[in-house]
Amino acid sequence: MPLFSVPKEVAVGTAMLGVAFATGMLAGKRYPSLVFGTPKSSKSIIGKSSPLWQYILDHSLREHPILKKLRLLTADHPWGKMMVSCDQAQLMANLVKLIKAKKVIEIGVFTGYNTLNMALVLPDNGRVIACDINEDYVKIGKPLWKEAGVEHKIDLRIKPAIQTLDELLASGESETFDFAFIDADKESCNEYYEKCLRLIKKGGIIAIDNVLWGGRVLKPRKDDLATQSIHHLNEKLLRDARVNISMLPMGDGVTLAFKL
Ligand code: SAM
Ligand code: CA
Repeated sequence: MPLFSVPKEVAVGTAMLGVAFATGMLAGKRYPSLVFGTPKSSKSIIGKSSPLWQYILDHSLREHPILKKLRLLTADHPWGKMMVSCDQAQLMANLVKLIKAKKVIEIGVFTGYNTLNMALVLPDNGRVIACDINEDYVKIGKPLWKEAGVEHKIDLRIKPAIQTLDELLASGESETFDFAFIDADKESCNEYYEKCLRLIKKGGIIAIDNVLWGGRVLKPRKDDLATQSIHHLNEKLLRDARVNISMLPMGDGVTLAFKL
């Protein structure tokens, strides 16, 4: 079989197909939950226990050894599941490289796996403004930022991310950033998006994580503020003329917004 020929029933290449498959609606067919999992059984679209997940990693993952070390260290943490998936991190690193980004923002650092991932591909004078409120999480990854020789590219701000974004805006840094990754408290995702959109240059990219939220966006409960907030942002983005978008069924769903 040619390298890129994927059987129809397991094609995961485009967002629309992914959503159609996930809802089992495409051409009126039902597709096996092995491929896309169900909201109840798994947070990721392709269940992490699926052989396809392993196949994807075996055939695409090129991970820096220190990045891998941090991923394995984080996986042992009680909240290890908060870490971004490694295939998604690789996509973001590729995007950062593609657009020749110099200044990036990460909202929600946790142990700093994706912070390190982005710092590794930035030029030596590049900067990641890394926002988190919990220094204990960040302390886990910091020694590995140093070991990888990229510590000088990471500007860690321990305070509520809204405050950091407001400070960046107030200090005249509007339209100076190339890339932003939004992955903190979901209730604030719209505010993060609006502030990042002001900070990002035209042609820059905002990646918003967990846009499928384990499938809960299909039926947001009124009392579930996180799901409501993600769902409202998803609806707004569909009609947002300031950006072009792609919603990818990767990890727990990631939307890429390209600023026009
Ligand atoms: N992006 C990380 C990665 O790639 O591994 C995962 C981030 S984790 C899902 C969410 C993080 O957001 C946590 O570390 C949490 O402390 C942080 N967080 C929660 N509320 C925040 C806030 N108001 N401001 C900044 N960070 C916040
Ligand atoms: Ca996430």
